[in-house]
Amino acid sequence: MVGAQCDNFKPMDDLLSRTRAAVWHPCTQMKQLEAVPPLAIARGEGPWLIDPDGRRYLDAISSWWVNLFGHCNPRINAALVDQLGKIEHVMLAGATHEPVVALSERLAALTGLGHAFYGSDGASATEIALKMSVHYWRNLGQPEKNGFISLKNGYHGETVGALAVTDIPLFKSTYEPLLRHTLQVPTPDARLAEPGESAEAFALRCADALEARLAEHAATTAAFIVEPLVQGAAGMAMYHPAYLRRARELCADYRVHLIADEIAMGFGRSGTMFACEQAGIRPDFICLSKGITGGYLPLSAVLTTNDVYAAFYGDATARGFLHSHSYTGNPLACRAALAVLDIFEHDNVVAANRVKAIEFTKILEDVAGHPRVRHFRHQGMIWAFDVADATPGFSTRFHLAALAQGVFIRPIGGTVYAMPPYVTHADEMRGLAGALLTCLDNPDI
Ligand SMILES: *Cc1c(COP(=O)(O)O)cnc(C)c1O
Repeated sequence: MVGAQCDNFKPMDDLLSRTRAAVWHPCTQMKQLEAVPPLAIARGEGPWLIDPDGRRYLDAISSWWVNLFGHCNPRINAALVDQLGKIEHVMLAGATHEPVVALSERLAALTGLGHAFYGSDGASATEIALKMSVHYWRNLGQPEKNGFISLKNGYHGETVGALAVTDIPLFKSTYEPLLRHTLQVPTPDARLAEPGESAEAFALRCADALEARLAEHAATTAAFIVEPLVQGAAGMAMYHPAYLRRARELCADYRVHLIADEIAMGFGRSGTMFACEQAGIRPDFICLSKGITGGYLPLSAVLTTNDVYAAFYGDATARGFLHSHSYTGNPLACRAALAVLDIFEHDNVVAANRVKAIEFTKILEDVAGHPRVRHFRHQGMIWAFDVADATPGFSTRFHLAALAQGVFIRPIGGTVYAMPPYVTHADEMRGLAGALLTCLDNPDI
């Protein structure tokens, strides 16, 4: 018995059958797990995932875009161990603590917005921003301003409120009867530009379409929500920052909030700390999650303007923002986030990534030039391309072929993308490039 307890790893097959029996995996048709078993992971180390037999896989998509500084990062680990010796959690209504205050101060300094409100994940940040926006207009005596506009192919999470502003049919159609009707405007996705039309000209043409919508619907619209620069779940659709600059002006002119969903792009992923910086704009709300804790713990935050905050401040309880969740501002999650911000500062990460990204783009030159590759694109620490002749099942075949070469990557339809942790080195990136080329060279994939 003692021996059995010490020998704490079980054969992988056992884990796979237990996961199929006990766990309902996210974004998964469970029957497909028979043909495509999940990767059993026992440990992590930097950008590497390690299975129970010691095989290593490069985490080329940062575990659904959350990991920044590698798995089992010593500095984040140390911060969490320290926090565990102090307080693991205390409710944030009627109490406060150093980690949540310090994190709120630092996020405010970084975003130029304030009064961080915390949620547990990205979708709940979207919900918070949508609710705050509608409640703001209500507090101003304009309850009819309660609608939303979002981009075609946009993604803002999958809870019922967030799904209403998401525009990915595979995730949305089934639940349509549950959802609030919202308006979608054309995406400035640069791939959709006319031949000869620049990304900027196309972005401005799309902004005209936004203006037309606002002109018609501003009186009943609370907010326009947008993923700045890159629509991730749409397949890393990238667009020109001119769109955001124009959207900022239009939202101000038409008195509609601009919500920047930086859940995926925030914390350096787009090449600057926040993607909005590249357009030189300040949104009315910013939603943060994913990389906020370096991929350690679920946490999200919404920050807003003093104007919005002030509209909730008063004697009437119902004028306040009465949203909450049990783990709001969890001290452990906040400490992980503080450790992440320390690393950004201490290692000058945004500048270091800029150098790294140039090198990585060079490493991927042969991939970009492969005859099957279309629209090779790059933004910050994201690289993506479309495979011209991808047929149904491409993404699964590509995923499995890459796994066989020690790379964990999951294409979105015919789009392959890499979003490596920032601690990834050039030699690891060369390995990734080699694996991508091997997959592309195989006409059966
Ligand atoms: C991932 C994501 C969300 C949802 O975050 P979850 O933590 O998965 O709920 C929302 N918006 C964007 C842009 C995202 O990439």
